[in-house]
Amino acid sequence: MEIAFLGNACAVPHIRSGFTSVLFRNNAVSVLVDAVDNPVRDLMTIGQDPCMLQVLVLTHTHVDHLGGFPSLIATLSNMERLMPLTVLATPDVQEHALHILYAYGIDPKSLPYQLVFEYQGYSDSGMAVQLLTGHHSVPTQMVRIVAHESSILYTSDIEYEASFYTGVPECSVLIHEATYFHADLVPGGGHSSALQAGEAARALNAKRLFLCHLCSRAMDQSNLLAEEARQVFGGEIIVPDPHVWYEGRAV
Ligand SMILES: [Zn+2]
Ligand SMILES: [Zn+2]
Repeated sequence: MEIAFLGNACAVPHIRSGFTSVLFRNNAVSVLVDAVDNPVRDLMTIGQDPCMLQVLVLTHTHVDHLGGFPSLIATLSNMERLMPLTVLATPDVQEHALHILYAYGIDPKSLPYQLVFEYQGYSDSGMAVQLLTGHHSVPTQMVRIVAHESSILYTSDIEYEASFYTGVPECSVLIHEATYFHADLVPGGGHSSALQAGEAARALNAKRLFLCHLCSRAMDQSNLLAEEARQVFGGEIIVPDPHVWYEGRAV
């Protein structure tokens, strides 16, 4: 399993990075989580053929996660994609996404490829993708991906609450938002600090922790951000660069 971040900034982009979205690839199966900025160009940048993307997961309706959806759908149409695209999202997010397409005059039925909306999950070639309810300022889903050698949990946007993680399955790799340093965290703001991401990684027995959805200060001081998580988590901590491939398992 390989992981690449198309961006790892929070709702305010950084000069070196767009909003957070993540591509997971295992053999021939590719899964993009959230559609931000210009998804097709970002996919091309990391060497992923946009017309071969199998699954798009939409976690929640915030613009920094869903704003690139009409661009992705229309551009794939312009590229004359034929392969169906599975869109994995809760019914309320699906409805929101369809409204956005109609607002741009895009009728999903007139696309050269089929949009297949799913909620229950997706599995193909030994890779299973599942949605788990998250905890944010609007309804949101976390993404659990299990392949032969790894179990990955991506929180998307989440407000840390220690008790929340007791009901979440353990994972070997945790991708947790760390929008702020702990001292800058706004209680009730819907987000988490690097310290809290470390706490979550420890609670979930993860071996490797990726920190993403970073505010500008966190991005500029990424070494300090990783150090903050290291105070409570003894595994490997990575602040990923955009458009770089990483191993999606603990090594
Ligand atoms: Zn966000
Ligand atoms: Zn959000």
